[in-house]
Amino acid sequence: MAVILIFLSFALGASLVSFANMWSYRHPIDGTMPKKLLRARRSFCDYCHRQLSWWENIPCLSFFILRGKTRCCHYPLSWRYPLTECLGGVMGILALVGITARGILMAPSLFSSCLFIFLLLSTLFFSLLIFSYDLYYLFIPLYPLWGLLISSGLFWLFFGSHSLLALVGVSINVLLMLFLFLITKKKGLGLGDVFLVIFPPFFLGAVGGVMSVWLAFVLGAFVGLFLVIIHRGVGLKSLIPLGPFLIFSFWLSWAFNWWHILLQWS
Ligand SMILES: [Zn+2]
Repeated sequence: MAVILIFLSFALGASLVSFANMWSYRHPIDGTMPKKLLRARRSFCDYCHRQLSWWENIPCLSFFILRGKTRCCHYPLSWRYPLTECLGGVMGILALVGITARGILMAPSLFSSCLFIFLLLSTLFFSLLIFSYDLYYLFIPLYPLWGLLISSGLFWLFFGSHSLLALVGVSINVLLMLFLFLITKKKGLGLGDVFLVIFPPFFLGAVGGVMSVWLAFVLGAFVGLFLVIIHRGVGLKSLIPLGPFLIFSFWLSWAFNWWHILLQWS
């Protein structure tokens, strides 16, 4: 049973990122996508716009089945697709781990269990949309951000055992990001990041919410350093979006409450 649940969570997260990648691709920041393609229901080849068959569209796997090239015009496919889809799958599993760790305690009745799962899944959905879009365009889209803030705010209202303390975490996060936004002269961070840090304390409480943002900076620094080392072309000035790190570290924190271990040590 556990293995099936883990597999389903991975498949859900990977499919959501696959959808998010398609959505991001069809909604470029400058609105240049032709209307015909915008309305197309099925996925199409990035190069010749041929409609894809179902097996060319399996999250994580199709890239390997197709050996990294499009079937129709043999253009190389980006590593971005399998990589982000697998990361989405991991975040799906992290969401499940967090639910099994605390869900039954927080949601005692059938109605509250359903609400709990619904709000968590909508948070997962909107966070993965932002994850994908920020990676594409270094920009956090407005509507998914609203969706994320509303679903996480509702989660806090119904299940927030951390009460008003969460708002202290929100204030610390927002002030920190606003400070960084202003001292980097709006180049290092976007205003979207300032709004994005509102949501973690609603799930994790004040301490967890602040620690999850701290973890995002640590992960971002490691990945940035790694990219500079393996890819000489990526200078320190190249922009790495913070949003995907904020989202990944949130789900990591939701699953493991790792800061509790840190607090016990100190
Ligand atoms: Zn093609």
